[in-house]
Amino acid sequence: MGNLYNLLMQDVRFEEALKACMNCGVCTAICPAAEFYPYDPRKICDIVQRQNEEEIESLLRSDTIWYCGQCMSCKTRCPRGNIPGSLINILRKVSQELGYFADSRMGRQQCSIVDGVGRNILEIGYCVHPDRIDPDKHVEQGPIWRWYRENIEEIAPKLGANYHGDGPGALRTVRKENLEEIRKIFEATGGMELLEQIKREEPASEKSDKHKI
Ligand code: SF4
Ligand code: SF4
Repeated sequence: MGNLYNLLMQDVRFEEALKACMNCGVCTAICPAAEFYPYDPRKICDIVQRQNEEEIESLLRSDTIWYCGQCMSCKTRCPRGNIPGSLINILRKVSQELGYFADSRMGRQQCSIVDGVGRNILEIGYCVHPDRIDPDKHVEQGPIWRWYRENIEEIAPKLGANYHGDGPGALRTVRKENLEEIRKIFEATGGMELLEQIKREEPASEKSDKHKI
């Protein structure tokens, strides 16, 4: 039994994610990602199950493991009770820990996610927040987004939000002591180390000084 397979097995989710795949392909048939990308969860389960170290390594360095949308449709359909979506998560984690993700264009998007979602969680306590979604950088939000941001103080209360307020409610300011708790959870669970590891592997050409965790 090789090292990479061992690493995958050490993840607490592994036992539930891959019991015994019979290669039926039901997961691939139901998988929305397989319809749009060169992506096949059946094949991924098969590669891991065969414990072929070379193939597992190329999987960990490939774009393939980043195509899954984590919808978990595969979980409800697998006749053997496997969870391919969960196996993908384990592969992603090992790929991040070993720095293999940096070999893949899709994998390198992790660096932007650390700079965006990762920083937001640690600095303001939200994954995404209107204050952090600049209309000039997020044109996909459409023209109304700029108007919403410019008038948010007036609009937010009408939608029941507590924008920058104290106490409960959406968009409230997360207190300093709670932010400190979030940071401690990240530190205790290894989340902070993982974020830093991802940033360490970021190619120099894509690095930006302003993004520090
Ligand atoms: S549905 Fe289950 S048994 Fe069938 S290929 Fe997918 S993981 Fe394997
Ligand atoms: S969780 Fe991933 S692998 Fe499973 S059906 Fe959804 S996109 Fe496909």
